[in-house]
Amino acid sequence: MKHVTSLNQNNQEPVENIGKARKKISILGATGSIGQSSFDLLKHNSERFEVDTLVGGRNAKLLAEQAIDLKASCAVIADETQYRDLKNMLSGTGIDVSAGEGAVIGAAGRPVDMTISAIVGAAGLKPSLAAVMAGNNLALANKECLVSAGAVFMNAVKHAGVDLLPVDSEHNAIFQVFDQKERDAISRIILTASGGPFRDKTRDDLTHITPEQAIAHPNWSMGAKISVDSATMMNKALEIIEAHYLFDMPANQIEAVMHPQSIIHSMVEYQDGSVLAQMGASDMRTPIAYALAWPHRMKTTGRTLSFDEVLDLQIRPIDRMRFPFVQMAFDAINEGPARATIMNAANEVAVDAFLKGRISFLAIEKLVADVLSKIPQKTISDLENVLSIDHDARQYAQEFI
Ligand code: NAD
Ligand code: MG
Repeated sequence: MKHVTSLNQNNQEPVENIGKARKKISILGATGSIGQSSFDLLKHNSERFEVDTLVGGRNAKLLAEQAIDLKASCAVIADETQYRDLKNMLSGTGIDVSAGEGAVIGAAGRPVDMTISAIVGAAGLKPSLAAVMAGNNLALANKECLVSAGAVFMNAVKHAGVDLLPVDSEHNAIFQVFDQKERDAISRIILTASGGPFRDKTRDDLTHITPEQAIAHPNWSMGAKISVDSATMMNKALEIIEAHYLFDMPANQIEAVMHPQSIIHSMVEYQDGSVLAQMGASDMRTPIAYALAWPHRMKTTGRTLSFDEVLDLQIRPIDRMRFPFVQMAFDAINEGPARATIMNAANEVAVDAFLKGRISFLAIEKLVADVLSKIPQKTISDLENVLSIDHDARQYAQEFI
């Protein structure tokens, strides 16, 4: 299905959809946190959606259960050693089973109305691009692929003429209040940050942080990698870069503020001084539901806000000395796209090493800064460039560890 351009806000049902019974959906990263929230919405709305393909990384049991529950056509597992198990669990169901990176990319390229891109990390890049190139509209949670491949990714979206709907709660919020017709009147987009579990700790307090402490997010329940990213504020750094590409905004029109309650998901300021915000409970089923139903609305199966008690909303500036990744993101936008690719790749290696107990919490920041300083400025014109810079950054990061 090819229609309209990315970030389209016509709010009109594409002509070819009128009268169409159900939207066909695939999920990349079905067994993860976003994948399970998506599963929940799809399961309770089977009259609106049918499921084509579910892709998982390693959890064959959960993937098989989800595929049976959602009556999917295909189940694909990235880890080839899980193929037999998955095949056995799905025998007699008629669900097509495959495994391995090639199978993941192949399945992502099956034509559907919408692909939910929720693999974690740059591993999601090739499958997400395959979905885009197949003409599938994309509900994008996998921010790392956009940070890593930036303009290359956005060009692919534009070229394919598909809709790109942000699922990341901040970008989804901005999308909901970003008036494309009045974009010249937009003065700033303002991302909110919860600050993660350590927002009130000093840098000295952070010396002996364990992985268990780092993944215990106060407001959101998420996968391990993004939880650590929230604790270091790399998550906000990635989101600043994500916003730069999604909304085509320069660094000086992007702001990030601390908002510990995670109720205001982000804001857009117009030149007349109006600031429009989107609010809601901290439950990813809201932005996923928005993307799934767009340009209409559907009922969430998740939590909603209660106004029966005091709703205390605080907003304060982010101390960029305390959280250096935030400043690093703005610098990366100004210095050129390769900086974001390097930052993302080095961070993925560093977070993995931290979760495995190989480096300390504060060493994540140091490692990313060291890798950035090691690799000279490079230009990016195609996917090959992105993959080669990503590869080099990972190699340097491993050497530093
Ligand atoms: P998660 O770790 O819970 O899930 C990741 C999913 O990707 C799993 O299904 C896993 O099996 C799969 N996967 C991992 N490596 C793979 C590979 N090489 N090939 C195929 N599949 C693979 O992560 P999550 O929290 O669901 O986050 C997913 C993405 O969404 C991340 O990019 C994250 O930044 C973004 N995001 C998450 C949240 C959230 O609330 N969880 C919010 C905003 C954005
Ligand atoms: Mg977010």
